[in-house]
Amino acid sequence: MANIRSLSVYCGARAGTNPLHRAAARELGRALAERGIELVFGGGRVGMMGIVADACLAAGGRVVGIIPRLLVSAEVAHAQVTELLVVENMHERKRRMVERADAVAALPGALGTLDELMEMATWRQIGLHDLPIVLLDVEGYWQPLLRLVDHAIAEGYGTEVLRSYFTVARTVEEMLAALADAPAPRFAFQERWA
Ligand code: AMP
Repeated sequence: MANIRSLSVYCGARAGTNPLHRAAARELGRALAERGIELVFGGGRVGMMGIVADACLAAGGRVVGIIPRLLVSAEVAHAQVTELLVVENMHERKRRMVERADAVAALPGALGTLDELMEMATWRQIGLHDLPIVLLDVEGYWQPLLRLVDHAIAEGYGTEVLRSYFTVARTVEEMLAALADAPAPRFAFQERWA
């Protein structure tokens, strides 16, 4: 895991109804701690976000929360994290999260998670970063999204390159294996953003 020391995780502000999703979130938090990979996340205590962060902290991991001022009370800013950054807005949150990461990952979530995930994919498309984007496809959660990407390609709105941005892992173990194989980023996000 030499190249990946920090993982930015996007996931739901709700915990969903599938216990296997929550179990995967806990397993990921614990696994990151055990491997000494820093967790960067949205900074809230609620939903899947809180579950990953709590599991990572309980296993002795390092957790960085990045939360917009507007959401400090709505998403219950997590007071126990190693580092909590309160930022001005949603855009700053996304920028600061990717700046701190060597890879990004999405767990099940809704519109906010989709927004963050798609922005990471489109930022990669325009060359703002070259970080691996891993989908934790627990119980096939991301299959409808992957079908939509394939549909966009089939309809001529992109090439197979679009699909190559997403690494799909069915389990936490597969995700860790993908991260272990990931090349080091070739440039810092900050260089291209400026
Ligand atoms: P959801 O998947 O809708 O439960 O949202 C998951 C997380 O995405 C929440 O922490 C939201 O605050 C966050 N989020 C929603 N919209 C945005 C946005 N435009 N930029 C950054 N984060 C967002």
